[in-house]
Amino acid sequence: MTTVDEHLERILAAVAPTRPRRAGLEQAHGCVLAADVRATVALPSFDNSAMDGYAVRAADVAEATEDAPTTLPVVGEIPAGPGTPAPLKPGTVVRIMTGAPLPRGADAVVQLEWTDGGRESVAIRRPADRGLHVRRAGEDVTPGALVLPAGTVIGSAQIGLLAAVNVARPPVHPRPRVAVLSTGTELVEVGSPLGAGQIVDSNSHGIAAAAREAGALVRRLTGVPDEPDAFAKALHGVLGEVDAVVTTGGVSVGAYDVVKEVLTGTGTVRFDTVAMQPGKPQGFGLVEGVPIFTLPGNPVSALVSFELFVRPALQRMRGLAATGLPRIVVTVDTELHSPPGRRTFVRVGLAPLGDDGRPGPRTVARLAGGQGSHQLTSLAGAQALVIIPEDVTQVPAGARLPALLLGADAGAILSGMGWVDTDTSDPSAGPAEPIAR
Ligand code: AMP
Ligand code: MG
Repeated sequence: MTTVDEHLERILAAVAPTRPRRAGLEQAHGCVLAADVRATVALPSFDNSAMDGYAVRAADVAEATEDAPTTLPVVGEIPAGPGTPAPLKPGTVVRIMTGAPLPRGADAVVQLEWTDGGRESVAIRRPADRGLHVRRAGEDVTPGALVLPAGTVIGSAQIGLLAAVNVARPPVHPRPRVAVLSTGTELVEVGSPLGAGQIVDSNSHGIAAAAREAGALVRRLTGVPDEPDAFAKALHGVLGEVDAVVTTGGVSVGAYDVVKEVLTGTGTVRFDTVAMQPGKPQGFGLVEGVPIFTLPGNPVSALVSFELFVRPALQRMRGLAATGLPRIVVTVDTELHSPPGRRTFVRVGLAPLGDDGRPGPRTVARLAGGQGSHQLTSLAGAQALVIIPEDVTQVPAGARLPALLLGADAGAILSGMGWVDTDTSDPSAGPAEPIAR
């Protein structure tokens, strides 16, 4: 038998980050920066007001007090907008709005609340230090500064910053395009009536969702029948357009195990018995250079296998460290068993409980339900997978064990993202394009 770690190592040795492309900001969202982004502009790009009020020379209002305000003529008004305001003459002020360019000669802004709000002339009741309420050019970003380093995940704040420094098409590792293909003559698409002996294809939906959660763009092919020609045709139909293929089913030792039958000896594909539970039969390899993950058919086996093997590979393809699911340590509240020689992944719910039964720093893991590899309800109800090592067959209640945290990114995906981004409403959108060298 192959160990979980050996199988993962073989996979990670065969996958690489997607080729960098420049992409519009909408497409770049959720991708990883493929190169450092340096500023070509300053932020702010000009001195401007941080307040609604009056642009002044600090020296002109140095004597202002509540009892003896300084009254000065108001010679104009500067709203936020294009253009360069006229220089401010000594002994005068100008009304200024937040974000408007500070006129040359002014060195402070007196906020409206410290004045009588006058239009022709204004009474100013407090002095202003030089620089008060002035946002200086370059105080956030100076030209040439490293704004975001390669390897940064582009979330909302990063998108905002890229836009602010006027980078419309940052260099990114595009999201991997993944075809999810379920096999089984017994499968019907969800929502269809079931005949005798038929079951709903839950894997293609579950695995497609897992792949989206892991940052991929997904094309789903449902219920390819257990016929070698049909499987080969479906596979070759997508190979040219994807960065990876994930199949489910058809990899056991029975007859009609079509994935194994077709892919044995193809490219570098190898089928292994991996020392794990659930998910023992696994296959992986490159076909025409495309990584193919052949996961077992049982729904829990398929999803757990995805988390252990496909997720880290997708992380690497996205340009991230292949760390897999986040790891935590939990205390199990019940005795657990595991077959000898296999790494077992136990579906558990988590509760933060102290020794007195009240909430505390210790995370307690409780069995989430039946642990059969067909029992999806316990996976759906689980928040973590407790890991029982290969050499352990029995774990006493109260033991502390590592666990993989599930679902951390379930809410973080882009819904409604198409296979190809066709948004043309924004000039920064459009198909990803190669980076000129
Ligand atoms: P297999 O590995 O193809 O022998 O499948 C193992 C078990 O998983 C069988 O009970 C299948 O019916 C079931 N199964 C296979 N593919 C799917 C699927 N796409 N959705 C739900 N169950 C499946
Ligand atoms: Mg099957």
